[in-house]
Amino acid sequence: MPSRTLRVRHLAGTLIAAIALAAAPAARAQQSNDTAYTARIKQYLEDPRISTELVDHLPASATVPTPLAVLGHIVGTPGVLDHSADIYKYFDALAKASPRVKVWRIGKTEEGREMILVAIADEATIKDLDKYRAMNAALGDPRKTTPEEAQRLIHTAKPIYYLTSGIHSPEFGGPEMLMELGYRLAVEETPFVQDIRNNVITLITPVIEPDGRDKAVDTYYYNKALPKDGQRLPLMYWGRYVQHDNNRDGMGQFLDLTKHTTQVVLDWHPTILHDLHEAQTYLYASTGSGPYNEQIDPITIDSWWLLAENDVMEMTKRGVPGVWTYGFYDGWTPNYLFFIAHTHNEVGRFYEVQSYGPDNYVVKPRATTTSREWFRPNPPLDSIDWGPRNNTNIQESALLFALHYVAENRATFLDNYWRTSERAVDRGKTGPTFGWVIPAAQRRKADAADAVNELRTQGLEVDVASTAFTAGGVRVQPGDYVIRGDQPYRAIADMYFALQNFAPGNPSPYDDTGWTFPLMRDITITPVTDKSLLDQPMTLLTAPARAPGGVAGSGSVIVVDNTADNNVAKFRFEFPRVKMQAAESDFDAAGHHFRAGAIVIPNANRATIEPALRDLGLSGFAMAAAPDVKTHDLNIPRIGYVHSWSRTQDEGWVRAALDTYGIPYNYFGDVKLRDGNLRQKYDVIIFPHVGGSAESMVNGIAKRGTTPLPYRKTKQFPSFGTPDSASDIRGGMGVEGLMNLYQFVQQGGELIVEGATSTIFPDYNLTPGVTVETPDSLFARGSILRGVIADMTSPIVYGYGRDQLPVYFNQSPVLNVRTGPGGGFFGFGRGGAGVSQDITPMATPLKLSPWNPDEDSTSGGPRRGGRSGARGAARSAGGATAAAAAGAAGGAAASSAAAGGARTGGARAGAQGRQGAIDTAEQPRVVMRFPRNPADMLLSGVLTGGQALSDKAQVVDEPLGKGHVVMFAIRPFWRWQTQGTFMLGFNAIMNWDDLDAGSGAPGAPAGSVARGATAGSGN
Ligand SMILES: [Zn+2]
Repeated sequence: MPSRTLRVRHLAGTLIAAIALAAAPAARAQQSNDTAYTARIKQYLEDPRISTELVDHLPASATVPTPLAVLGHIVGTPGVLDHSADIYKYFDALAKASPRVKVWRIGKTEEGREMILVAIADEATIKDLDKYRAMNAALGDPRKTTPEEAQRLIHTAKPIYYLTSGIHSPEFGGPEMLMELGYRLAVEETPFVQDIRNNVITLITPVIEPDGRDKAVDTYYYNKALPKDGQRLPLMYWGRYVQHDNNRDGMGQFLDLTKHTTQVVLDWHPTILHDLHEAQTYLYASTGSGPYNEQIDPITIDSWWLLAENDVMEMTKRGVPGVWTYGFYDGWTPNYLFFIAHTHNEVGRFYEVQSYGPDNYVVKPRATTTSREWFRPNPPLDSIDWGPRNNTNIQESALLFALHYVAENRATFLDNYWRTSERAVDRGKTGPTFGWVIPAAQRRKADAADAVNELRTQGLEVDVASTAFTAGGVRVQPGDYVIRGDQPYRAIADMYFALQNFAPGNPSPYDDTGWTFPLMRDITITPVTDKSLLDQPMTLLTAPARAPGGVAGSGSVIVVDNTADNNVAKFRFEFPRVKMQAAESDFDAAGHHFRAGAIVIPNANRATIEPALRDLGLSGFAMAAAPDVKTHDLNIPRIGYVHSWSRTQDEGWVRAALDTYGIPYNYFGDVKLRDGNLRQKYDVIIFPHVGGSAESMVNGIAKRGTTPLPYRKTKQFPSFGTPDSASDIRGGMGVEGLMNLYQFVQQGGELIVEGATSTIFPDYNLTPGVTVETPDSLFARGSILRGVIADMTSPIVYGYGRDQLPVYFNQSPVLNVRTGPGGGFFGFGRGGAGVSQDITPMATPLKLSPWNPDEDSTSGGPRRGGRSGARGAARSAGGATAAAAAGAAGGAAASSAAAGGARTGGARAGAQGRQGAIDTAEQPRVVMRFPRNPADMLLSGVLTGGQALSDKAQVVDEPLGKGHVVMFAIRPFWRWQTQGTFMLGFNAIMNWDDLDAGSGAPGAPAGSVARGATAGSGN
């Protein structure tokens, strides 16, 4: 016994000694600082007020290297930026030296650069990361975890705080600052940092968009080396497809960076996802001004406020000016990267920091930014010297306070995560929506399967019905897709499938207002309000969905049903050498009704065609002889794709669609249009949206001086020259290039334009009959509006099964075509009034009237009265429009819009009869238009002043000489969200030399009238 006691004592002594040893650095009140690094922090800081005790020094470590040691400069050094590879080099060195840090590669971008994930926590936690991951996963799935187990986990698991940065490439500071934060979290032994390290797992992806980061860094150094008066190179491209819009892909999930981030969210269940940006004054911590997305759990909204107010409080307490919340961004649309957190019951938030530079500069904000407001108790100053170290200090401090707040309230955040997940599952048990059904055999069955697959990659579980049943009046067939409402990630379905009603009295929307997934994709997704849905036999889909396809019947002719599925275009381009024809009208054959646009393949090689149709989920019908219907050849066009060098922001969404569906094109810059001979090279030229005036789009980047401005890969700047390069990017197409484009069309080419590029020909008077309007009264910000197919015989609408289609429209252009009746249904009103609310009222103070009791007190009366009367009128006009818009969001509007379709048929016939100055042969063909009645227009989003769109064209096909200009006022390829209108563009490409098909055919418009009249008669 004694010996045993002794041994125990001895062990205990060893244990105590070990603890003392481990705690020694913490116990040392003063961990020594890295003096060289700390000296530079002070040296580079431009204003001493932008600092806190957390970041005014850097602790020394004998084993772990600082950014200075690895990169040769401290974070926040003026004039210095790091490429993504150097940032990764630092994190790799950190992980190698510290047992508190781990780094993984999480995938590559389109240009082949790596993305990384870093984890930082105390040593024991890092050793047990898988265990902690599993604990968070358990908290996120109340189907597998009991409330009792959850209570235990809330006190044993650790919140995961995921920091992302560098999605916006010229916003340089976040990726730099995160290196220093990483070091500090791993090394610093203050109780404050120990608290964070012991209670929170910090995840970091320092560069979300490494392709753009490297281009932005190269562009900075390129311009720095130019002579003072040399023309600066603008930042060209970021990733392969889009620039700033890379942060609008959270819903569509096309870009690799979005997919990799989503995978981190699915693998780790981060409690908070915090994205770092750099486009506001000093530091903005997000809450948004509202309106908030209606499907976000209220707990999440409260978390935004808790965290933001804590940031403001802690920074304000230390006298740091300009840390604020609320007055920027709304919280509405779910297409941002950080919204990936919200669709997974987590908290997403962001900072907007004053730009890193990296050169020092002076910040002199406007009065609307420096006024003291309730959300900005300690506002930014009228003027301050700023630099990269200010940027580093302010955001690193705020982040440390945020991390510490979560560490201190660890159980609260885990409990919130558990409850949000629990409430999601409960919504499926209590209704009113118990689930959704996506019919597998719907008209666009391949697109429906594609939608299912996109939802699955975001984590939504999809089942397949095993038998036929009816639930809540919804008939379900075996094979139909069922989304159960009692799953944790049902927020994806709630948020994406809902209709949006953005009340115009709100602050002006930050981005799109409508995104309803089934409308944008033109597919059927039906909510089910009967709980019995959940008891039906179904099996979880564990592999990608694929629509049934193949060939039925026998015979040497195969007719492929055109359902407007995007795979129809893919199919055509997969077999460029196979002769295919398009049927020019609807017809019946082999016991099936075919819509115009059905693809007829004479002498088909079934052995190659059938497997392709099966893969693509398309239906072919074999028959002995060609059907009795007029056809034209689907000749494969040589496609030219023009981009402007003056804006490479979002034309890539169009390329995204062409690339995905296998449509080849030759990509080149506007300057090359000057070379001419376009018709010799191309059959179709696509020129997507640029933005700005017709004149600015023609002029391109201005030429200053005689030195060319190249954009090409060099040894020194390897990131340049992709996805396109040029020896001089200046000058635009010029009038010369514009005339070449005009010649191209005259000689039989087809020009496809969308958005702003649709205005170029009309504004240069090259398209008689089409004019561009800019109505003041219109407010339609990224909304889904009703499209009316005015001409069902046009090849551009081949495959579409009815004369209406939801379309995305964003304010402009408003195209007026002289064939329509014109004017407005109600005449022009002032519906745009009252659209935005002043959230910084103190910034524009009233002019005070001096006190003068001797002056006539009534003199100002009538004028005041007059003004207030006018305001009242504007308010009521706005109110009336809002009410009409709200009505249009309901289902009742559908039939009256169909009646509008009937009116168009008549109007078109009438216009042909009266004929203006326009040559009949060059009469623009309105393929799609807005409804006549504004109350019929809004499907999802916001619209006021809709009168200005009454009967205006959405899609115009204007014959010019031997060719055509196809103008889209809508955006058929918007942000990988408008799959429902892709086919309008694909049809325009596939039928490029037969766009006149059906034009003026006597039977065709009449059919449209009959259909409209039938539908309308019920109302
Ligand atoms: Zn940004």
